[in-house]
Amino acid sequence: MAIKFSSDKNPGTSSYKKKQAPDLQAQVYELQSRLDRMALTMTAMWEVLTKETEITEEQLMEKINDLDIDDGVMDGKIDPEQRVCKQCGKPIKRRQLRCGYCETFSPIERPFDALW
Ligand SMILES: [Zn+2]
Repeated sequence: MAIKFSSDKNPGTSSYKKKQAPDLQAQVYELQSRLDRMALTMTAMWEVLTKETEITEEQLMEKINDLDIDDGVMDGKIDPEQRVCKQCGKPIKRRQLRCGYCETFSPIERPFDALW
């Protein structure tokens, strides 16, 4: 989720700072809440998987590392701009439905892409 800053004609004024601070705090709180919900869901999914299947933590770590290096950088995350527009070839954030360059519709193709 991108943090959006609202425009203000006088960003150096104290009224600007007073208006922005609560908004940023609310956005950080919302992001933390979403992260907490995702961590809870992933923990529950993992517990169900380990109870119902033979999957091991080693297999999970191997898959995490495979996905991590898939974008060419081993940095503990997936590149949010790894998708490419089929029309113009420019990068598209995974959760965007339209190319920011040519506005071609680009449907989300993988279930978890919408999380980025
Ligand atoms: Zn495009």
